[in-house]
Amino acid sequence: MTSILSVGSVAYDSVKTPFGEVEEVLGGSATYFSVSASFFSQVDLVACVGNDFRKQDVQLLESRNIDLEGLEYMEGQTFRWKGEYSNDLNEAQTLDTQLNVFSDFRPTLPVRYQDSSYVFLGNIDPSLQRQVLSQVQTPQLVICDTMNYWIEGHFEALLETLKSVDILLVNDAEARQLAQEPNLVRGARKILAWGPRIVVIKRGEYGVLMFYMDSEGTQAEDQLPSGDSLSVFGAPAYPLEDVSDPTGAGDSFAGGFVGYLAGVNRCDVQSLRQAIIFGSVMASFCVEKFSLDRLKELTFTEIELRYKEFKAMTQFEDIP
Ligand code: AMP
Repeated sequence: MTSILSVGSVAYDSVKTPFGEVEEVLGGSATYFSVSASFFSQVDLVACVGNDFRKQDVQLLESRNIDLEGLEYMEGQTFRWKGEYSNDLNEAQTLDTQLNVFSDFRPTLPVRYQDSSYVFLGNIDPSLQRQVLSQVQTPQLVICDTMNYWIEGHFEALLETLKSVDILLVNDAEARQLAQEPNLVRGARKILAWGPRIVVIKRGEYGVLMFYMDSEGTQAEDQLPSGDSLSVFGAPAYPLEDVSDPTGAGDSFAGGFVGYLAGVNRCDVQSLRQAIIFGSVMASFCVEKFSLDRLKELTFTEIELRYKEFKAMTQFEDIP
């Protein structure tokens, strides 16, 4: 099975939503991504934690067969993030970010990880993302996520990272901020000129848009679409009656998206579209409960069922 190298944050989050509040629960971009992707593919995790990292949280990652050789224990505290959501669950308000052990993290990849084909550069300092990528010999597909914190404070470093990225995943506010362009289509076009071949824009409860350059003609299964006309694929979000906590939705989306592509080892348009739906399915499960509480009890049968519901929900006939 193809494996995915995943780098990002492993964190303790304190989160308040209109539906509840939790303190110091397991979170982090790499955590959500890895657990979500583990339903589709083997995941190798690169991250660091402090000596306060709880045994039960290691056990959760192990229970999903995530390879932890690249998880470094460092002197100090695990990354902390504190956020709050108002009734509009689409955007988190960050109240506090404490990088802690991540400030001194200089990842050295285990030898086994250096020939990874799929690399997920989760939300973390863009220079760290590059540091990890530079140790991978011949990556086949590089997918990158980021957030306002890094766009604001590390813009140039992020642009440098984007030069080596195939697929960028961002939410709509981040896309606007990154491209400095209020219109998402124009923004996507601008970002596509900076390196990525595909830009996936997550729009919270409104779904997701995937932009890519394409042209008529046959395409190999293991090659990303290419061409000169801007193409788009859109999907709604799964309409849920109860949402508890949107934290991690973006990373769980990424896990389903990249996990599926790695699992089938293809990246043609058809597979990319399926991956968008698997991403949306995983994000929809993630937000049903706080922290990783829903993902850790999930089964693949539930994932397949919801994928089918997506198909039924979005299918319509051609003009008669
Ligand atoms: P999302 O999928 O966008 O909701 O990501 C949520 C996760 O991102 C939380 O579990 C946080 O621990 C993590 N996070 C928040 N801020 C940062 C940051 N500046 N760098 C890395 N990870 C972060």
